[in-house]
Amino acid sequence: MKKILSLLLAMTMVMGLAACGGQETPEETNTTPAESPAESPAESPEEGGSTGDYGDFAGSLIEEGKLIMVTNASFPPYEMTDDDNNVIGIDPEIAQAIADKLGLELVIDNIDFDAALLAVQEGRADVMLAGMSYSEERDLVMDFSDTYATGYQVIIVREGDTSIAGGNDDYMLVDAEGNVIEDVQIGVQRGTTGELYCQDAYGVDHVTSLDNGSVAVQALINGQVDCVVIDIGPAQEYVAANPGLEIVEGAYTIEDYCVGVDEGNTALLEAVNKALNEMIEDGTVQEIMDQYIGG
Ligand code: GLN
Repeated sequence: MKKILSLLLAMTMVMGLAACGGQETPEETNTTPAESPAESPAESPEEGGSTGDYGDFAGSLIEEGKLIMVTNASFPPYEMTDDDNNVIGIDPEIAQAIADKLGLELVIDNIDFDAALLAVQEGRADVMLAGMSYSEERDLVMDFSDTYATGYQVIIVREGDTSIAGGNDDYMLVDAEGNVIEDVQIGVQRGTTGELYCQDAYGVDHVTSLDNGSVAVQALINGQVDCVVIDIGPAQEYVAANPGLEIVEGAYTIEDYCVGVDEGNTALLEAVNKALNEMIEDGTVQEIMDQYIGG
């Protein structure tokens, strides 16, 4: 089972140029090889990276010269905090590299996931990078960049609990025989697509929404919920850190991670897409992923 999960995780990689939100950006032809190793994108701003190269987005920023990113740093390895409370992980590194290309200073605001969604929608943040999945519901209220990674949602159960074997096409949980499980309490992180899918399938009474993944996992350990639906990256980290838990084989959903931008902020969205696609093509995004996800 671990092998399959590692494989899935290894596949959490660059997805090429598929658009998340339907705003197709023409493919950029960039044959320039990566100029700098992904380890230090912050120190290697691209020569000439300026608003001139990435369109006229300067007037679309909340604060001049700054790229304000919101995230929820409780989502390793995409975002977490180090001992000094700095936000680190895949998303901050990608955002830093985008900011460098755009000639901007990156400012990171670490707040709850649902608050981050609102902040970008209400124009209090320029971008949201938070392992955030594209969804049609969200697309009604915010704009999405092209995708930079594939997200897999999985089910965490208490070790040895074989009653839940996966999810079906209707997002209902099923047992090993494929029978739908009706009587179940599912823990999710508030505001996530996992919450959305589980509530759609089961109704709100069967879904316990917690502030973040770590609290959701605690609820599972305490027996308040029967399982937790969460993205595979944090799931693996939480299971490794908390003995007595395991991940059910297979994906509950497969999603695209994108950068979120305030609805209608086309200039910034296009600049972000151009920078992101350059980094996808020259391997920078993959290098950042490899650094955190590894073998
Ligand atoms: N990918 C999920 C979503 O977009 C969870 C993201 C998160 O918890 N940071 O809803």
